[in-house]
Amino acid sequence: MLSVNAYAAPSASEDLVPTTIERRDVGPHDVLIEIKYAGICHSDIHTVRGDWGPQAYPLAPGHEIAGIVTEVGSEVTRHKVGDRVGVGCMVNSCRECANCLAGEEQYCLKGNVGTYGAVDRDGTITQGGYSTHVVVTEDFVVRIPEGIDLDVAAPLLCAGITTYSPLRHWGAGPGKKIAVVGLGGLGHMAVKLAHAMGAEVTVLSQSLKKMEDGLNLGANHYYATSDPATFEKLAGSLDLIINTVSASIDISSYLQLLKLDGALVNVGAPAEPLPVNAFALIGGRRSFAGSAIGGIRETQEMLDFCAEHGLGAEVEVIPAEKINDAYERVLASDVRYRFVIDTSTFA
Ligand SMILES: [Zn+2]
Ligand SMILES: [Zn+2]
Repeated sequence: MLSVNAYAAPSASEDLVPTTIERRDVGPHDVLIEIKYAGICHSDIHTVRGDWGPQAYPLAPGHEIAGIVTEVGSEVTRHKVGDRVGVGCMVNSCRECANCLAGEEQYCLKGNVGTYGAVDRDGTITQGGYSTHVVVTEDFVVRIPEGIDLDVAAPLLCAGITTYSPLRHWGAGPGKKIAVVGLGGLGHMAVKLAHAMGAEVTVLSQSLKKMEDGLNLGANHYYATSDPATFEKLAGSLDLIINTVSASIDISSYLQLLKLDGALVNVGAPAEPLPVNAFALIGGRRSFAGSAIGGIRETQEMLDFCAEHGLGAEVEVIPAEKINDAYERVLASDVRYRFVIDTSTFA
């Protein structure tokens, strides 16, 4: 076992504190990664605070991990010492079910193993990226191409793939009109990616506060959803809407913005069920869908795409002692657009 420095929550109601956690010995198929940067995802906060169910504590969150391989197991073929690598929201899956065999491990029929707070296949509880090192089976480690700095790469492992996968699945590209609802951690990546894919991109945000940012990130249009005129102007005009907002929104009025065969895809997860007016679907053969991260193969494809197009996340790099402040700022939507922890500060 390897004891490593980390930041972890001692309970659902306490701030994260510096501590040490155990990492398993490097097995034949494992790689040891020296973590350089870990992004702060909204899910980290929900999970450590017990919003999504009881957890085992202490819990170190973090599933946007970028670092360098420092040791590999005897059977490892995909990575070598010195490689720049990333780990996202999952660290294992059954590898046998239809979805795993199709390369869609995130939809493993036995449940994928989350990067933190999950029971791994060996029975231990996983601990996340707010730490100096992590041991992960090689198949769930992806390569970060030269050309993307590790700090701006980290958020791609959750926010990037979560938006890339539905954009690809629903055919984002030239000639397609795509709207992104919400310009936060996920939304800002959706705008960058959809623009790089060649689509015409519209941001739908509550206000016009971040309009200048949105246009700089690659959006062609920017509208306030607090203005009813937005819904009249855009009615029936969009091919795809990516909804990144976790709060409840009026899905039926957004569905009315879609063209024939358009799709509204939720990547945010509101706690409450969302009511949908079936007429809003029937009227244009529209779909209301959802999407969760992406498979390992697609995550690699996303990183290669980002390198090719010079894309990374917009980040604010913070030292470890600012993690709790950053949590408050994330909850207040006061971040443009992702906090990333510099793990060299985990002394
Ligand atoms: Zn996340
Ligand atoms: Zn499976």
